[in-house]
Amino acid sequence: MKNTPHAPGACRDRFVLGKTVYMNGNSLGPLPRAAQARIRDVVDTQWGEGFSRSWNRYDWINIAQRVGDRIGGLVGAAPGQITAGDSTSVCLFKLAAAAVRHSGRTRILTDAGNFPTDLYVLQGLAHLLGEKVDVRAEPADRIGAAITDDTALVVLTHVDYKTSAMYDMAAITAAAHARGAIMLWDLSHSTGALPVHLDDCEVDFAVGCSYKYLNGGPGAPAFSYVAKRLQEVIVPVVTGWMGHRTPFAFSGEYEPAAGIRRTSVGTPEVLAQSVLDASLDVFDEIGLDEIRDQSLLLSNLFIERVDRDCAGLGLTVASPRDAQRRGSHVALTHEQGYAIMQALIARDIIGDFRAPDLMRFGFTPLYQTLDDVHATVDALHDILTTGSWNRPEFLQRSFVT
Ligand SMILES: *Cc1c(COP(=O)(O)O)cnc(C)c1O
Repeated sequence: MKNTPHAPGACRDRFVLGKTVYMNGNSLGPLPRAAQARIRDVVDTQWGEGFSRSWNRYDWINIAQRVGDRIGGLVGAAPGQITAGDSTSVCLFKLAAAAVRHSGRTRILTDAGNFPTDLYVLQGLAHLLGEKVDVRAEPADRIGAAITDDTALVVLTHVDYKTSAMYDMAAITAAAHARGAIMLWDLSHSTGALPVHLDDCEVDFAVGCSYKYLNGGPGAPAFSYVAKRLQEVIVPVVTGWMGHRTPFAFSGEYEPAAGIRRTSVGTPEVLAQSVLDASLDVFDEIGLDEIRDQSLLLSNLFIERVDRDCAGLGLTVASPRDAQRRGSHVALTHEQGYAIMQALIARDIIGDFRAPDLMRFGFTPLYQTLDDVHATVDALHDILTTGSWNRPEFLQRSFVT
């Protein structure tokens, strides 16, 4: 099945989309029909009829590892190196804290333009450690040069949430290792969008988000990757019972579980993990190399049409034009970006906005067609030439943008 070529949008029927042109799968993936069916079954049958028997009957207790291994198949990680659970922010704290403690060095290096939660978590960790560790945030083009013999840990987001610019994972990981630093990648904007090769790149740690391109649903569990060679070496900092060697012995002393299980903390989010598990089914049918090829087909067409049809209308392409350096969304700037995006959304063409002036358009060929791209650019052109964005209801900012 995986070898059969699919056209963009070939899996659209597997999602609840109606006529919506959905350009926001980089922020919140749409509802997979498989997830809709699964949540009903888990709630009505597993929980509703099984009660606590379901911990064993449906193996709820191992769901974080099961889902983790499936995500591993999408990011180039052999089984036994990923657990699902917690939020990306919390996963990042857990792994960064364990890495810094293991390293003994004094500096965390990150990208000054990193997603704010990543910066906040690292700042909070430095504060907790009594400023014995400092966080140095550098622009993307200075990261390589900023890795020194003091660097404990390099924390980068593989694909930038604003511009979609993509780091060379193999090269930066090798540069970190050459200086004896530990490498932690945030894969929030990569997972499910393009091939990632964690094991081949010899990455140490990674975290990622599953409500974006994995379509796991709002607030879906994040994931943590720890390379096999480090699993018995690092000692967790957040030491909960689900990371204990024998949680159901109820002993009074913490002892880390073997392997990746030690990154787990509390009871798995069974409902949310079940939904995520079902959401991953579509990736059994279509591989990431094909998804990536088609994503670039869609985003290249989008950029071409914006260049050709929207010239002189105040839009700037803020993403790399070199497809090899771009993730799976394209950002356009316009000084009225917020209102223009609201006008698009009012036409049921859904993207999002990031301050101060970025409109983001996600390319997700599982359910998106070339016609969706044409419809989006046609609507943009119309909104800009008629000035129809200039209405009070489009200018009024909501809390979530
Ligand atoms: C989306 C995203 C997150 C999300 O963090 P949560 O804790 O799950 O809210 C974190 N980091 C990056 C880079 C992201 O893009």
